[in-house]
Amino acid sequence: MRIFDPHIHMTSRTTDDYEAMHAAGVRAVVEPSFWLGQPRTSPQSFTDYFDALLGWEPFRAAQYGIAHHCTLALNPKEANDPRCTPVLAELPRYLLKDQVVAVGEIGYDSMTPAEDAALEAQLQLAADHGLPALVHTPHRDKLQGLRRTVQMVRACALDPERVLLDHLNETTVREAKDSGAWLGFSVYPDTKMDEARMVEVLRAYGPEKVLVNSAADWGRSDPLKTAKVGEAMLRSGFGEDDVDLVLWRNPVAFYAQSGRLRLDTPAAGATFEGNSILRGTPGAPDVPAPVGS
Ligand SMILES: [Zn+2]
Repeated sequence: MRIFDPHIHMTSRTTDDYEAMHAAGVRAVVEPSFWLGQPRTSPQSFTDYFDALLGWEPFRAAQYGIAHHCTLALNPKEANDPRCTPVLAELPRYLLKDQVVAVGEIGYDSMTPAEDAALEAQLQLAADHGLPALVHTPHRDKLQGLRRTVQMVRACALDPERVLLDHLNETTVREAKDSGAWLGFSVYPDTKMDEARMVEVLRAYGPEKVLVNSAADWGRSDPLKTAKVGEAMLRSGFGEDDVDLVLWRNPVAFYAQSGRLRLDTPAAGATFEGNSILRGTPGAPDVPAPVGS
């Protein structure tokens, strides 16, 4: 089983996860920029984070034979914070970078006017840069949030073919599919979609344009949920080709629209800007040189 996790926040995960993901078949990931769990207090905090998603994180992933790309944006929640919104002016120079395969995640959190403005501006940025958009749909008030998102997507310059509507479930999948966008499902432990519900959605709506992700982050989540969905699909009668479509070819087709996807096994450099994932220098005794030597 070859797996592309199209939405996972590896910054929040350890190298044990990379190792287990590779063993389960994960060979590529996309890491969307997101909220850190506590508020950022300046746009510079975003740019340091973006730099890490473009530098340190692909380096870490490469150590485990996993290709890493990212999507960059002002996230929906922080679109409401005037300390953060100036990052919109920094985004154009970041969207030029080779590893950026979409603008995202953008969308609605609480559906405020500030979120309207940030979503509209960033859909336009995606169109201007020839990039697709990863659009998060709200966790509360899901159907109303989906409808407002679809309205915004219809009004923007981006073709729906270039939009991935994420965090869908049974209540939103029908209207999302009718919009012509790609359909993303985040499979979590306990909440949102689980493997069995995901299989039912695939039965009802088919595997075309469906992407499954773990959305694993700093909260209760599981970076192996993609593989578990693949296994559940096989157990319930889907063929290997359907699994490959959902877990590999669909995410590849969506993000390849950026023209920047590179899926060859990345070369693992020993260090990134002089630092490795090991503590200290391998083989060197962990003892500081005596003072004055
Ligand atoms: Zn996310």
